[in-house]
Amino acid sequence: MVQDKINEFLDSKQDEMIEALRSLVQIPSYRMPAEPGMPYGKGAAQCLEKALELAQRLGFKVRNIDNYVGTADFDDKEPELGILGHLDVVPEGTDWKYPPYECVVDGTEIYGRGTIDDKGPVVAALYAMYALKELGIPLKKGVRCIMGTDEECGSSDLEYYTKKEALPGMLFTPDGSYPIINIEKGRVQGAFAADYTVSDVSPAILSIHGGQTVNAVPERAQAVVQGFTEAEIAEYISKTDTGVTFTTEKSDQGVVIYAKGKSGHASTPELGVNAMTGLLTLLSKMPFADCEGFTKLKNIISVFPHGETDGTHAGAALSDDLSGALTLAFSVFHYENGKIEGNFDIRFPISYTVASVKERLVSTLEKNGFTLTGSADAEPHHVDENSEFIQKLLKVYEEQTGEKGHCVAIGGGTYVHDTVGGVAFGAEFPGEENNMHGANEHISIESFMKNAKIFAHAIAEICG
Ligand SMILES: [Zn+2]
Repeated sequence: MVQDKINEFLDSKQDEMIEALRSLVQIPSYRMPAEPGMPYGKGAAQCLEKALELAQRLGFKVRNIDNYVGTADFDDKEPELGILGHLDVVPEGTDWKYPPYECVVDGTEIYGRGTIDDKGPVVAALYAMYALKELGIPLKKGVRCIMGTDEECGSSDLEYYTKKEALPGMLFTPDGSYPIINIEKGRVQGAFAADYTVSDVSPAILSIHGGQTVNAVPERAQAVVQGFTEAEIAEYISKTDTGVTFTTEKSDQGVVIYAKGKSGHASTPELGVNAMTGLLTLLSKMPFADCEGFTKLKNIISVFPHGETDGTHAGAALSDDLSGALTLAFSVFHYENGKIEGNFDIRFPISYTVASVKERLVSTLEKNGFTLTGSADAEPHHVDENSEFIQKLLKVYEEQTGEKGHCVAIGGGTYVHDTVGGVAFGAEFPGEENNMHGANEHISIESFMKNAKIFAHAIAEICG
């Protein structure tokens, strides 16, 4: 059986594959200052060079596109299938039990920055192509492994590449999870603002600050208030049921109220506990003196109520059958000295557009005295799950894992979000834990090998 031969061949190359992965992990390739000819700095360029060396050694025709992207072609045919991975990583951070750039094998696991995201999958893809080549399995269609170097910082590598040439018509990235992600919701990351007149009333809220990044549910927030004692505030806290933990501390100006919730990614806000909306809920229930600032705060919490993540009160409760409901995370907020500024992050279903979602938000914000001051947007991404390409990927996944294959819709964006027809296929298996982007990132040897086998069979199925 051809299938067995492919898997046996790859198994016989396991040690060599781990060595190949090590040679890439050893080059820290997080984004560094640009240098002449190296748009993402030395690390990314060196890692790309190393990967192209490997691809060439395995017998592929390689190209370096100005140190943005590298390609490895199976043969001279025009590529119809592309496998898109990336060689850049996020910085190592702290708290590693193994040196992050040594690729230590401990028992069943390979530890190191990039082992799962995404150097391991790139090596698996190159060896998948290598297996077919060495076994002499004929391909009717061309295959290209495309290796980017800026996925973690905005995918400008891919933008550069697609300006130079078209991506293959069938494209998957092993930079997500199995079985297949074919729907990525659209995104509106909005900023809003308002002014208020600072008035000399008491009791009053002097300042509120919470959240740090637009794409995360804020874990912490704090407010400075005057006109209440800590004991009085404790009374109001005891009557507010938000799931947020509050503590207080006396300060020169009055009392600081600290709120602690649970952070979460903005694409799944329901998994977090929003410290900011929790704090605003508490403040809105306290009898502060009437003033423009307090009125606007109460308006804010009426648009973004605590615990609501589907945008109902923002006028944007949208959903559809294929991609589910819109999600909204109220993520950053500042209130001080007459200025209010905030951010929210919306992921919306594929039946809607950026413009239609923004229109709803603008209207709600304006009614409440706020202006949308800016936004970073992306239209939704959708590939028909009934296409022959997706059905073949699912078939291979089922054959190789024994698990049921299906398509998944997510709120986040993957490397193929801005492509036409690209899907995420691997490299993470359901339920797998790998500390991607954190300390002790790792991939199991079994998953590493299983990825290579799945890719090899997918190429054979689609291009054979
Ligand atoms: Zn990645």
